[in-house]
Formats: sequence, C-alpha cells, structure tokens
Amino acid sequence: MPTLAARIVLTPDGVCSPGAVELDGPTIVSVAPAQGPVPDRVIAPGFVDLQVNGHDDVDVARATGADWDRLDELLLAQGVTTWCPTLVTAPLDSYAARLERIATAARREGARPTIAGAHLEGPFLGGLPGAHPPQLVRPIDRAWLDALPPVVRIVTLGAEIAGALAATAALAARGVTVAAGHTLATHDELRALVDAGARLVTHLFNAMTPLHHREPGVVGAALTDDRVVASVIADLVHVHPTALTLAFRAKGPAGVALVTDAVAWRAATAGPVRVQHHDGAPRLRDGTLAGSALTMDQAVRNVVAAGCTDLAGAVTAAATTPARVLGLDDRGAIAPGRRADLAVLDADLRVEQTWVAGEPAWAR
Ligand code: ZN
Repeated sequence: MPTLAARIVLTPDGVCSPGAVELDGPTIVSVAPAQGPVPDRVIAPGFVDLQVNGHDDVDVARATGADWDRLDELLLAQGVTTWCPTLVTAPLDSYAARLERIATAARREGARPTIAGAHLEGPFLGGLPGAHPPQLVRPIDRAWLDALPPVVRIVTLGAEIAGALAATAALAARGVTVAAGHTLATHDELRALVDAGARLVTHLFNAMTPLHHREPGVVGAALTDDRVVASVIADLVHVHPTALTLAFRAKGPAGVALVTDAVAWRAATAGPVRVQHHDGAPRLRDGTLAGSALTMDQAVRNVVAAGCTDLAGAVTAAATTPARVLGLDDRGAIAPGRRADLAVLDADLRVEQTWVAGEPAWAR
C-alpha cells in the first residue's frame, strides 16, 4: 500500500505535521503523524474547479477527441482532480451537441480528472451580462430547462429575472445546483432565490449588485447567508485582495469556493466571444473582463500570499467546499474512506504530483 509523507498534510481536523497518508487502491485508509525525515512538501486534497470555460488553447465549447486529453493534462498540472466544463451564453440550439460532447468526455476511463458535470453560465442571465453576448441573453425557457440532460450539474442564472424562483425550485429538485450570477438583483431578490433553493453565487463581486450600506445587494446578501457558497476568481485582477479577505472572513473557507473561470485565452475564445489577453486577464476589445488566465494552484498561492486566508483555508476553498457544492462527499478532504485524489505541492505551493483515485496521474 503506497504511503505519502510530507511536512504538511492538510486534513479536515487541521494540519498534520509531519504527516503520512496511506492509500489502499483508490481510497485513503489512514492519516497519521509521520515517523522520521519527510519531504518538505504539502499534501492537499485534489482541487475541484466549478467553472472552467477552457484552458490555454482549448475551449470547452469546441473541444472534441484529443482536446479533452489535453484539458486533462492542463488540469492535472494545476492539481485539479474534479471539474465542471462551463458553457457561456450561446444560442439555445447550440447546447445539445456541446453537452453531448461533455457527457462523452465524462465517460472516459483512466486516471484523469473527473468531469462532475457541465456548468451552464447563462443564457438566462440578469442585467449584468459582462462579456456574455447580450443579444443571446434571454428570458427563462422552462421547457428547455426541464429537458436538459443529466450531465448538467450547475446552472447560473439571474436572480431578478421572471420565473427565476420557479426555475430554481425545479432545478434544485432535480439535484442541479443553482447559482445566482450576472445579476442586478437586490438583496431581497437574492434571499428569495436562496429560499427557493439556490446554493451558489457565481464569481462574487463580479457582475452583480455591490455592497452598499443601505442596499447591500447580492454581495451583501451572499456574504451573510450561510446557505450559499460564494465562488471567487482569485487572480487578483477580478477582485481586490481586501475584498477576497472580506469574503473569507465573512463566510469562512467553508463558504468560499475558488474558481478559475479560465478561458482558452491563447486560442482567443470564450465560447462565442473573441477575447484578447491584456492587463492581467482575457478581455473584450472594450476592456471588459472575459474570464481569466488563472490556474487553481495559482489561485491558492494568490490568496495565501495576499494574506486573504491561511493555507488550510485556501485548500478548503479549492477542494473541500466545491466538492460539497457538487454533493461529492467521497472526495475533497484527506480523511480515511475518501477517494485518494491528492495534490502534492512543493514548499512554494507549486504542484509536484497529482493523484487520482490512488493513481499517480501527473508529475512535474
Ligand atoms: Zn461570468
């Protein structure tokens, strides 16, 4: 049975230092203090990214065949072991083929990151579409939503649009995680959406009503409602480090999910949108942010280096919290009985190895 030792092992009960993680097949069987000298490294649970439009030169919306293998490699290199391919706003009749391709990719076997399901960001967005093509943002179509295939795992919609509450209740009843995002909703409208079953706020602070002391908006509602997890894009371009600190302090790491919202910036596309990388992130021609060029390991390093949270908090937000959002209680933590999905980081928090279900899937 393989045993991995490290100076720091991050467990739900705290830091085990030095620690050893023992695996049996795909499963963690024990976590215990290590004896003798250990490598100066960190063992974290494999990261879980709820929002990936693409990476590097591969766009999820267009990916076919070997493109998915390339995405696997790019994800493993950042310690990601579970993820949600994300489709931005596009014509309604374009989704079926894309979702079928995602479902086919999810069925591949081997030591590769798990596709937990697709994240539909749009097309039923609210009044702040950001980089989504505004002419394709549309009112809720319940028949279309009700007919979505089971590969759809997360739907981000505008909390203020007609029919949002009923759609949220219907999706939640099917086990789909509903997220509020790209929304001009008021504080009360966001609360109502959470009452209806929404459990996520997509990229907190970006493309939503901000916190004002007399109208606390979606940001104020999300920061103070323990029923919702807030995802954040921690590239230090989308959100100021102080705002990230506010999110971690208000909600705790169990209420924050680090996401990359990465796009295929080297291919210059995010779904139907053309993007160009400048001033630290992919953008539309007018400068509007259009996803990121972030990786999950960089997000972890960013929030630790900026003092937004500590290493344990960063790893909770990169793995444990997003796994819980997806209802995947078999992973997201280093504890006996969990899947041995592991990100082994060096002393500078750079990924050395990534393990998937007890198999060494990637090494630097
Ligand atoms: Zn977005």
